[in-house]
Amino acid sequence: MSLRDEVKELARSQGAQLVGMAGVEVYTDYLAQVGERLRETGAGPQDYMVSDGASFFALLSDARNALPGAKTIIMLGVYAYDKIAATRNTRGDLRGKTARIYSYYPVVRQISRQIVALLQSRGHRAIQGQHVPLKFLADRTGLGVYGKNGIFLAERYGSYIALRDVITDVELVPDVYERPASPCEDCDRCLRACPTGALYAPYKVNPKLCINPITRRMAFIEPETRSNMWNWVCGCDICQEVCPANRDLVAREIDPRACFDSQHHSSHKHLDGLERSPDLIELLGESYPEILRRNAAIALANIGKGRQEALMALKLHVDTAPAQLQGYFRWAVNVLEDKKNQA
Ligand code: SF4
Ligand code: SF4
Repeated sequence: MSLRDEVKELARSQGAQLVGMAGVEVYTDYLAQVGERLRETGAGPQDYMVSDGASFFALLSDARNALPGAKTIIMLGVYAYDKIAATRNTRGDLRGKTARIYSYYPVVRQISRQIVALLQSRGHRAIQGQHVPLKFLADRTGLGVYGKNGIFLAERYGSYIALRDVITDVELVPDVYERPASPCEDCDRCLRACPTGALYAPYKVNPKLCINPITRRMAFIEPETRSNMWNWVCGCDICQEVCPANRDLVAREIDPRACFDSQHHSSHKHLDGLERSPDLIELLGESYPEILRRNAAIALANIGKGRQEALMALKLHVDTAPAQLQGYFRWAVNVLEDKKNQA
């Protein structure tokens, strides 16, 4: 059996539904695309979700920087739509679906480590889990398509796929690239459903307006954006919920390696292990991370529900909250008082 087939067989036997290979040159135009998006939106590297303090461009660059002499990129995908994910994503949850379902990244990480070990055992250099543009590469390796909502979509698996890369210096025969038919051709449901206008054009997401990244980092949120965030305190995922590619998915059995992954999954990390549905008033309290306290204040201002109770709780915390939260709390108090006066 060829090494290429061995890699594929190992990945599949360990639980990867998608495995694709391509030469590393496939994504040389990626940074140009990102640069265009930054110019069009005025967003900066800080608006993307990367490790704290790390430079987006330094991290998310050419795989050949991560592994000089790299020849092949192997993309792995594990289907993540299990019985927990097979519930509707509603605003009543206060969290986008990806923030409250099991993460399958631990599964795909384990598989990628096994592939690295196989390649190294044959005398090749290989690394996994680099900051490469995963969705873009999954598209270019023919595993599926990049959707108008900026999310990777694959036939049978929709957008619920945990992706991971392996980069190696051995030349493996690339898969024959045939671009799959895209479900996006006659559809714009995600663009119409996005509450903030973050999907400002097909295939283009403005990270400064997308609720997913802005609820997970502490950068300043403009007041006009706060008003469009509805009551989401972590993530949103409306653009996945309305997507027809996710409509008839068959839920998989839960993989025992999948988990609520607060160490690695950005949604889970910012929820600080909160598995039950959060209570907005409780989230204002000082025992919660500042990001959640800020998001809860914005959500309370937007929904105006239990207005008197929300006002009292916000006023209770406004003077003792850390300086960077006080402005949000005051803004929420003002919004709720305006609503009260208009009632
Ligand atoms: S909602 Fe429609 S346009 Fe948007 S990603 Fe899904 S199929 Fe594509
Ligand atoms: S996650 Fe929400 S805010 Fe972000 S693009 Fe999708 S619908 Fe828009």
